[in-house]
Amino acid sequence: MKKHNFSAGPSILPASVIQKAADGVLNYNGIDLSIIEISHRSAEFIEVMENARSLALELLELEGKGYTALFLQGGASTQFLAVTYNLLESKAGYLNTGTWSAKALKEAQHYGEIIELASSKDANFNYIPKNILVPANLDYMHLTSNNTIFGTQFKEFPKSTAPLVCDMSSDIFSRTLDFTQFDLIYAGAQKNMGPAGTTLVVVKDEILGKVSRHIPSMLDYQVHISKDSMFNTPPVFPVFVSMLTLEWLKDLGGIPAIEKVNNDKANLLYNEIDRNPLFKGFVPNSEDRSMMNATFTLTQDNLKDTFDQMWKEAGINGLNGHRSVGGYRASMYNALPLESVATLVNVMKHLETKA
Ligand SMILES: *Cc1c(COP(=O)(O)O)cnc(C)c1O
Repeated sequence: MKKHNFSAGPSILPASVIQKAADGVLNYNGIDLSIIEISHRSAEFIEVMENARSLALELLELEGKGYTALFLQGGASTQFLAVTYNLLESKAGYLNTGTWSAKALKEAQHYGEIIELASSKDANFNYIPKNILVPANLDYMHLTSNNTIFGTQFKEFPKSTAPLVCDMSSDIFSRTLDFTQFDLIYAGAQKNMGPAGTTLVVVKDEILGKVSRHIPSMLDYQVHISKDSMFNTPPVFPVFVSMLTLEWLKDLGGIPAIEKVNNDKANLLYNEIDRNPLFKGFVPNSEDRSMMNATFTLTQDNLKDTFDQMWKEAGINGLNGHRSVGGYRASMYNALPLESVATLVNVMKHLETKA
């Protein structure tokens, strides 16, 4: 039986998507060729790419609003740099809410004046800073919507007159938001959309073309836009699987439908973390808690071996916390069913009878 997969990334994909991906690798749509052995300029693959790009915009309700979706390579980590090349003329503001936002800030620092507008580093990133003052005259403001490692998530976003850039790698397509408040969204596929190897970039066209620096072609959003996300050979397999996942999500009822399931899963787990005296949430303020990545610890260290054995025996995978937080992290991405969370909660309850 398939495991209950709480892996933080690469992570669980819907079973039907994995089946369709496998079919497409063996024989794509009955053409007697694999999707990974045909030209990216073939009619078949162009259709896959165009489908994936338009589904991304449709699900985010950004169609016809001046945005373009691209499927690029180099991971979210390359976007830390690409954002800077494309948007930074002199000064940008960054919110530092964890490992990934700190890395994004570090990349940008080499190319202009970077202001850390707020940070939660003073408490090992266990909260989301509030009442952030955003100065005028920024080229852009950058934040990470969901902090995958620490398990915090912005529920409301600071207002900025400058373009708002958001790393949504670990919560894209998971909740309804007014996505027009963002001018650039990027997300590595491997958390909530597909296999590792492609990064979705959704950019508002009008913010581009305003910097004086020379932009290397592979980092230049306008180059990728002008080539319909096919400037060079795109990562055909990750784009194909991402398209399948986006189709799955659309069939399910889109983001509003998956948001309900995601809320149910997060509520079930956080209620148990708060109720069960053997567990403690890493993020004290419930409104700052991530609906995707729940971080928690045992209150009695001597129960670790017992608990670890119990969840492994229950068929659970990927529950160990990141080394910078310790304890446990349950990643509950879109494809994780409610039953998997119920299984984990049952193990937590069962541990109480053994303590
Ligand atoms: C995983 C992750 C990244 C890093 O993505 P790569 O594709 O490995 O570069 C960046 N930001 C966030 C929020 C992440 O969760």
